[in-house]
Amino acid sequence: CGIVGYIGYREAYPIVIKGLKRLEYRGYDSAGVMLYDGADIKLCKTKGKVSDLEEKASKEMTTNGTIGIGHTRWATHGVPNDVNSHPHVSNSGDLVIIHNGIIENYAPLKQELIARGYVFQSDTDTEVLVNLIEEIQKKEKLKLGKAVQTALNYVVGAYAIAVFDKKCPDELVAARLGSPLAIGVGEGEFFIASDASPFIEYTSNAVYLEDGEMANIRLHKPMKVRKIKDDSEVDPYIQELQM
Ligand code: GLU
Repeated sequence: CGIVGYIGYREAYPIVIKGLKRLEYRGYDSAGVMLYDGADIKLCKTKGKVSDLEEKASKEMTTNGTIGIGHTRWATHGVPNDVNSHPHVSNSGDLVIIHNGIIENYAPLKQELIARGYVFQSDTDTEVLVNLIEEIQKKEKLKLGKAVQTALNYVVGAYAIAVFDKKCPDELVAARLGSPLAIGVGEGEFFIASDASPFIEYTSNAVYLEDGEMANIRLHKPMKVRKIKDDSEVDPYIQELQM
């Protein structure tokens, strides 16, 4: 399973698809991609291979964009099918998430969200997480980063995630606990991936998040890294990769 994200000035789609192919060695049963074209969120996802996703996207994805996230799924909750594939979108349609790992306490959280009127399309633990973030963001009027952080402090499990919010579309939030996550730091662009192979040709500067850390990645701003648990800021260590 794998994660790829891009925010910058290039067309995101080819970067994300090529990146997912480089992560195929990690194993997966489904794949999906989200692109944001400056106005709308476009999704394409399918059970099967990244090549199946490409074929579906060539028919369905009319748009392109300079922000994109992509995922290969190794199903843990919910069978491998198109609906359970990632990315998952929150009820409002604003938040989009990709996730590798497991949210162990998703069942009680799901019940609570259903009681508050949330509706679920998939059987995944991941769709619970994205709606939990949304509920916290609405209730506590938090920015995306803070809402993600608060939600992650409610969940038990393992994750590498990337989250996009249409309400603040020059930003991606990434976090990890128990699953790897690297961030490529370019000039006016950032990459998120399970390992550096999806972005090595674009930048040799990488930050490997430590377990329990999250990153706020905003265009034309320095990246902010902090500890999910206690909110303490971490000086991101930018490593020079051998190209
Ligand atoms: N638990 C999530 C799911 O089943 C993510 C699985 C993965 O790591 O790809 O959808």
